[in-house]
Amino acid sequence: MRLGIHVSIAGGMAKMAETAVSLGCEAVQIFSRSPRGGKAKDLSLPDVEKMKKILAENNIHPLVVHIPYFVNLASDNPDTRSYSIDVLVEDLERTETLGGRYLVTHVGHKRKDDPPESPEAFARVYSSIEEALRRYTGPVKILLENTAGMGQEIGCSFEALGVLINSFPEERLGACLDTAHAFGAGYDWTAPEGVRKVLTDFDEHVGLSRLCAMHLNDSKGTLGARLDRHAHIGQGNLGEETFRAILECDLLLHDLPGLLETPIDDHGDDLANMKKIRALRDL
Ligand SMILES: [Zn+2]
Ligand SMILES: [Zn+2]
Repeated sequence: MRLGIHVSIAGGMAKMAETAVSLGCEAVQIFSRSPRGGKAKDLSLPDVEKMKKILAENNIHPLVVHIPYFVNLASDNPDTRSYSIDVLVEDLERTETLGGRYLVTHVGHKRKDDPPESPEAFARVYSSIEEALRRYTGPVKILLENTAGMGQEIGCSFEALGVLINSFPEERLGACLDTAHAFGAGYDWTAPEGVRKVLTDFDEHVGLSRLCAMHLNDSKGTLGARLDRHAHIGQGNLGEETFRAILECDLLLHDLPGLLETPIDDHGDDLANMKKIRALRDL
């Protein structure tokens, strides 16, 4: 697996790339804009060129962009949904400008009284993505990420996710599998047999051929708690042995990006988590 971590873009793209190098990243994830909202600042092209050069010289690829959290492709409010589609299209374009290969998005949020994995909400996501892919025809691929199913989140079951993902062509849309979210949704990764079981289940419903990236996060929540709380690698309910088994698993592509989104409680946590995950792969 190509290991990396989510790196902040505060200070610009070149600074982000330098941080990725100092953390020992082989792949990297970023937001292309502030995740909390507002209009996105134009990208500075000299800064982007500098970033690309640093990433290339240090063999860091792919660059993965995560869409901001305020996007809701499942919204039943026409204004919210159309704004979310605009942001999706804009972020696809920004990812292309940045030289990124993938744009990760969560599936969306249903209405409170809708059933879990509401088919109506999924139908709205389908048309949102369809419209975005009609408007953006470049090389960047959308990756749908599984959720923990917390609150009104949809997209936590491999069955529902699989139907949606397989409605689109493979070259336009893939999957990003988050270890902590899957655990929160009730998929038991824990060693020794867990990893093979979960990946076989994922393969059956979504298809491992659609899997383009993983989010490697330990989980503060317990199995099936539907809680989206990431923990440091080895310090949550998944544990070191689970990550070792994932990194060793022959069902996964050798060069699959595995990106950490672990908490930063103390200065130095990103480096500590990167060292830990690399040690679990290499030792
Ligand atoms: Zn994630
Ligand atoms: Zn999460």
